Amino acid sequence: MFGKEEGTMNLKIGVIKGDGIGPEIVTEAMKVLDKTAARYNHTIEYTQLLMGGASIDVNGIPLTDETVASAKACDAVLLGSIGGDAKTSPWYQLEPSKRPEAGLLKIRKELNLFANLRPAVLYDELKGACPLKEEITDGGFDMMIMRELTGGLYFGDRKTVCEDGVMTAYDSLTYNENEIRRIAKRGFDIAMKRRKKVTSVDKANVLDSSRLWRKIVEEVAADYPEVTLTHMLVDNCAMQLVKDPRQFDVILTENMFGDILSDEASMVTGSIGMLASASLNETKFGLYEPSGGSAPDIAGKGIANPIATILSAAMMLRYSFDLDEEADVIEAAVGEVLKKGYRTIDIMSEGKTQVGTAGMGDLICSFI
Ligand code: NAD
Repeated sequence: MFGKEEGTMNLKIGVIKGDGIGPEIVTEAMKVLDKTAARYNHTIEYTQLLMGGASIDVNGIPLTDETVASAKACDAVLLGSIGGDAKTSPWYQLEPSKRPEAGLLKIRKELNLFANLRPAVLYDELKGACPLKEEITDGGFDMMIMRELTGGLYFGDRKTVCEDGVMTAYDSLTYNENEIRRIAKRGFDIAMKRRKKVTSVDKANVLDSSRLWRKIVEEVAADYPEVTLTHMLVDNCAMQLVKDPRQFDVILTENMFGDILSDEASMVTGSIGMLASASLNETKFGLYEPSGGSAPDIAGKGIANPIATILSAAMMLRYSFDLDEEADVIEAAVGEVLKKGYRTIDIMSEGKTQVGTAGMGDLICSFI
């Protein structure tokens, strides 16, 4: 990973451009990575990988074992988006296990990506898109939702039975202490790179799994004396996200609560084209992707917003390569371009200058 010169690195990045707007937005993120690498004398070795519909077209399946092996040989993977229009694309004539989305589930499982990170950032310049009142969001907000991704209710035993003539369905929510400890450690590590505040969200007044969650999170917190830990019940958290989102730094929570809260948090930022995400495993490896989908309605038109993918690339530099300064530079460049009034169509408002996908990528590069 380290280059010949002191402080320089050779970054081995897997690239899955994917389907729809994927190739367009990933191209811009690569431009920004290249510009940043050049400024700091790093080198980047890209490995192009096929997944989703693009892989079905070539290999007949959405993700091959060879692609998984190539992804594992990289330090991190940048993903655009996968999938097509479910009504018109031939990919959706295939059985569910062969459709584009199955590739995404498989790669997450194969790479053991148990920690999902979704930043919800409201830029002051885009506050018009936020559905909350201005006095609540004045100055913007910046939080990170850290969601456990491979345990809990979505992976527990389930069954539907008929008992005494009554249909009854069961889903079980199980966590063991090791699963909680590894995500908690990741959450505190990430808080150390931010404002050093963790809000652990649970339902410890009702659920045993939440009581264990709280106990283990407290144990982990003891190793991070600089980080302030608070606990919050999930119902209260859902309220606080719209009442006072500025109070949050890292929100650490289990799978289902995180699923719901991360969507709520992203909604209050107002724009899908701005939302980055990362999924990490126990090593430094991560899969970085925009939160949005492949947007088949605008694919090929050169108008998609590449910022979510560019910010995902910045997260990659920060969390997989510990290149915090380089990540800061990219994030600041995005802020600068917004401040200067440039917008893609999805975040366009009166009096601003509209640019396309490549134009936005070029502008961000110009501030690096
Ligand atoms: P979508 O996120 O692709 O699109 C929803 C709306 O947001 C559309 O109007 C789209 O034009 C817009 N949009 C999304 N990203 C944008 C961007 N960067 N710039 C400007 N506008 C943007 O969601 P969908 O339409 O429900 O799904 C389309 C396809 O994407 C489906 O096949 C779905 O399965 C897939 N999908 C993939 C991922 C992924 O790869 N992780 C995630 C979600 C959906």
